[in-house]
Amino acid sequence: MSHHLHCRVSDSLWHALQNEAERTGHSISHVVQQALSSALDMEHHSIFQVSTTGAIVKGVFDGCTTVGDLKSHGDFGLGTFEDLDGEMVMLDGRCYQAVADGVTHEAGDAWQVPFATVTRFRPDRTEAIGNIADLDALQRELDALRPSENIFVGLRLDGVFDRIDLRAACKALPGEDLVTATSHQSEFSFENIEGTIVGFWTPAYAKALNVAGYHLHFISADRKKGGHLLGVKAGKLTAALHLETDFHIGIPETRAFLEADLRDDPTKALDVAEKGFVRDR
Ligand SMILES: [Zn+2]
Repeated sequence: MSHHLHCRVSDSLWHALQNEAERTGHSISHVVQQALSSALDMEHHSIFQVSTTGAIVKGVFDGCTTVGDLKSHGDFGLGTFEDLDGEMVMLDGRCYQAVADGVTHEAGDAWQVPFATVTRFRPDRTEAIGNIADLDALQRELDALRPSENIFVGLRLDGVFDRIDLRAACKALPGEDLVTATSHQSEFSFENIEGTIVGFWTPAYAKALNVAGYHLHFISADRKKGGHLLGVKAGKLTAALHLETDFHIGIPETRAFLEADLRDDPTKALDVAEKGFVRDR
């Protein structure tokens, strides 16, 4: 079903429309339709992120936004808090901090955030998956559901987990980088626990901005336990995927960020700090 739109536009907008139609070979109707849908649907497939994983690797842990501001951009996501003080999980519009031993608190809107990725989670695809022996098996299941290696995906997995292995970053000491700071992280496991995995899959081309591949956090159904996911075992889970084709980044204007040397490739450090690869000692 289609509708006719009658509206007034300025001269300059009319000329821009005509130019775009000429340039692309599409009708005015098509150009208007595309422009409107991208303007109005923008939030639907958008990721909003503050700072970069490259900066986090370099120890830029100063807050550059607040939990309240993040909530204006999304209802779902993950990140950390000022001074790397625990793991952030945002789910159904509420924001939680997981600290040592997986104890969680609801974060206040004024809390400072140095790094986070959020979206308004609306699944494009929901599937049942099962027999998840470990994190590799989970990732293989999710790989099969993703349509492309080149778009971001928001991921939500609900169910009862046979076992879940987590960590929570502990407050960094002044001057510590990510690898050093997470070397004194708290690691813990829970068995037979109902909850939700919240996270993202990031394309390899964005490796300096976010953790390439999967980055997953967990929060229990009672919202009392959580952390950054290191291991998982589960029978049946519901996997929801939100395809993200619009990536926004807020670049911090803090002195620490502006003066940081961010030229290095952060991949190796992230493998150790975020994916639990064996540390060089
Ligand atoms: Zn994490």
